[in-house]
Amino acid sequence: MGEGTTVMAGAQGPSFASLYGDRDPVSVLMEYGQTREVTVEFTEFSRSGPDHASCFHTAAIVDGVQHVDGVGSSKKVAKKEAAEKALKTIYDKGRKRLKEANFEMNNTFEDQTDLSHAHKIKLLTRGVLELAEETQLVYYTKDKIAAAIVLEMHHGRFVAVGLGTGNRCILHQHMRDDGGRIIHSHAEIIAKRAFIRYLYKQLERYEDRRGHHLFERNPVTGKLKIRDDVKLHLYISRPPCGDASAFPTIGNGPTRMKAIRKQGQLRTIIEDGEGAIPTDSYIPAGESGSERLRIMTCSDKICRWNALGLQGALLSHFMDPLYLSSVIIGSYSGDQREHIPRAIFGRLTTGDLRQDLQPPYRVNTPEISYPDADLHDNYNINKSRQYYVTWTFGDAGVEVIDGMTGAMVGGSISAKESRLSKQAFFASFRSLCRKFNRPDMLKTSYKEAKLLSEDYQASKTTLYQHFQTCGYGPWYSVENNYSVDSFS
Ligand SMILES: [Zn+2]
Repeated sequence: MGEGTTVMAGAQGPSFASLYGDRDPVSVLMEYGQTREVTVEFTEFSRSGPDHASCFHTAAIVDGVQHVDGVGSSKKVAKKEAAEKALKTIYDKGRKRLKEANFEMNNTFEDQTDLSHAHKIKLLTRGVLELAEETQLVYYTKDKIAAAIVLEMHHGRFVAVGLGTGNRCILHQHMRDDGGRIIHSHAEIIAKRAFIRYLYKQLERYEDRRGHHLFERNPVTGKLKIRDDVKLHLYISRPPCGDASAFPTIGNGPTRMKAIRKQGQLRTIIEDGEGAIPTDSYIPAGESGSERLRIMTCSDKICRWNALGLQGALLSHFMDPLYLSSVIIGSYSGDQREHIPRAIFGRLTTGDLRQDLQPPYRVNTPEISYPDADLHDNYNINKSRQYYVTWTFGDAGVEVIDGMTGAMVGGSISAKESRLSKQAFFASFRSLCRKFNRPDMLKTSYKEAKLLSEDYQASKTTLYQHFQTCGYGPWYSVENNYSVDSFS
């Protein structure tokens, strides 16, 4: 067995071998060849050593490139090791390129000074995602539905720090109460979670006395804030589900009036259901008589980020809210463009929310931009994919997640939880509590830790009241209907 078979999920994420779990490396390599349309062959076996202890040798040839010999006491063992060695080489090569990806993409921009902001961010996201997907050994897909959080540093360089693809949600039978599963697997939500992972990594490295490229201390709140010269951008390949995309075309006459009345409504996507339904609508029970799982749409969640920030309740113990400077929409269809600003932040600018939110919380109105027409993402890609990838800056490779179970694909049984799960974040949170001297927080459950983030919770209450007052309807929380936050 090669060195790659050691299974561990350390700070670097899953090890190489855990990326294909218990599957036979020979079939993983054959699948690799099929999905990428390259040939995979093995050299003829050769034999060495005395008769009673002979060794077989063979090597995998992938796309014409011969890899290091696999050696074993039988032909089968030698072939398996050859496949494993080839996979390791391919993986290491992809990983090395991925490390350079952001840097390479920025260099290409230097020769193209006329590119728009939206155009650059789109190209960067696509470029990095493409390389990230190449490190995917199992269930290879190239997903067109993608999202990313991109940082713009003070020297004008962009860095994609959190990537996500996917358009599925967990099935209710896979819900668990230990925080191990990912519930909402839409690209923008996954990209945001990948960004949260990035924040944890950065906070782990933060030292008060030394300058940090991302954070500085806010003397007013005493918490960390993002430096003024760093900007945050969200790229999404198509308009978010819900209010931004619920009105593809508004006709004239009675249909138009009906559609307008429902504009701005908070909506949920529903298990086994079509479209996004206003939260105050009655939903009949599922086939088995059980309540159907409902999840707030991406339009509503992005809108919430523009009041509460992207950091969420847990990280609000350590940092001020982080707000987006811009949202880049890769493509759209019909009249969607007229609905996007309302869905993403317009619903926050009506009423008194601006006065009601207590600083540092505020109503954020990001610039919304679109790449030039010739670079629109192909929009006709509604095919739902079960598997999707995520990657956080600094990770060796992508993680492949099954959107219907909310768990990592491959991996040993003990390593099934995604590195983006609530459970993984809570472990990082506890580590930060030790680092930033908050022993009081080590006694709490995940849910209690969230509730103790008082300023965040107060702002959330203000926001939800605002939605109700303006007639947008109630916010539906999965946490209030399923036991998903009570673990410790
Ligand atoms: Zn969505």
